[in-house]
Amino acid sequence: MSTNKRNWKPQTALVHSGTLRSGFGETSEAIYLTQGYVYETAQAAEARFKGEEPGFIYSRYANPTVDMFEKRMCALEGAEDARATASGMAAVTAALLCSAKGGDHIVAARALFGSCRWVVETLAPRYGIEATLVDGTDIANWEKAVKPNTKLFFLESPTNPTLEVVDIAAVASLANSIGARLIVDNVFATPLQQKPLQLGAHIVVYSATKHIDGQGRCLGGVILSDKKWIDENLHDYFRHTGPSLSPFNAWTLLKGLETLPLRVRQQTESAGRIADFLAERPEIARVIYPGRADHPQADIVKKQMSGGSTLICLDVKGGKQAAFALQNALDIVLISNNLGDAKSLITHPATTTHKNLSDEARAELGIGAGTLRLSVGLEDTDDLLEDIAQALKAK
Ligand SMILES: *Cc1c(COP(=O)(O)O)cnc(C)c1O
Repeated sequence: MSTNKRNWKPQTALVHSGTLRSGFGETSEAIYLTQGYVYETAQAAEARFKGEEPGFIYSRYANPTVDMFEKRMCALEGAEDARATASGMAAVTAALLCSAKGGDHIVAARALFGSCRWVVETLAPRYGIEATLVDGTDIANWEKAVKPNTKLFFLESPTNPTLEVVDIAAVASLANSIGARLIVDNVFATPLQQKPLQLGAHIVVYSATKHIDGQGRCLGGVILSDKKWIDENLHDYFRHTGPSLSPFNAWTLLKGLETLPLRVRQQTESAGRIADFLAERPEIARVIYPGRADHPQADIVKKQMSGGSTLICLDVKGGKQAAFALQNALDIVLISNNLGDAKSLITHPATTTHKNLSDEARAELGIGAGTLRLSVGLEDTDDLLEDIAQALKAK
């Protein structure tokens, strides 16, 4: 039996939506670790392949545990339909390739997760899909980049690692005015703090690896949109190219969804306190946090986000040496390029996630030698503040 009531608030939907309970009446969602499905008769197999009878055929197409995860994500996002993927990059790549064809043009914000930038800048042109990258914080730049064959807009907000914020409603409205679509990579805001579909975006993608798992265990991704677009553009691509999510990982992510609101609320509260603390410290040149009034796009944050995010970008005075020393002096906060984890993680983008960009491209994005990105975890906030304070002193 499927339970999916549209009027549930997020915390209820994230515990109950999409549940497919078997005849055994299990409380927790079952893991259907199966590749295939059997049919009572040859006639039943024929009917299922013809689409005359509902049911599963093969786990590359669909699987009950993956189905539960997709339905629960739809309930959270307010989307008609979804497809879960093996990683966030599988979701981004599928969404892009299924939205454009050879001869089309994409406009994307240049502040993108490294692999997303590679797909747009390097992979897509191999198939005749040209892209223009713009500073996404000014809508005039998007307008200027539009060509007669522009079919797609793509953005992240807040961006990685400098937490720039793009006006999603303005880009969506521009997309609608020229008959193009907008894909939003909503990882940094989480599905709780920003609702791109309500702001006018057509497609939302997540790396479920981040806050949705939230405990650093498995990779996963999801694409959400209207049913018509998924049926017409994504359905066959999915069946035949196989980016499908493993049922075991889908189960892990379902369990992650149950606690997502509690975790994101706690991590955001801590991040806010840590950002305020860092902003007052003489060792820090700059703090960028969407929840602070001094954020460069604070007016847009107010319009489209309901929380300040769990990430902080900071510039340490003294460049690379000082940034490395700070990282090395931290006890609780771990050095890792991942984010959205229960464990607080810090990374130096210039030498890790963004090392492949030219110096010029890094400068454009505001990534300096002293820039660090902090993903705030679930540890006690006072312990985190104490750890950061001792590391600033020690460095
Ligand atoms: C991590 C991330 C991705 C890629 O997700 P994977 O699950 O690592 O493949 C894409 N976009 C953003 C913004 C991310 O943070």
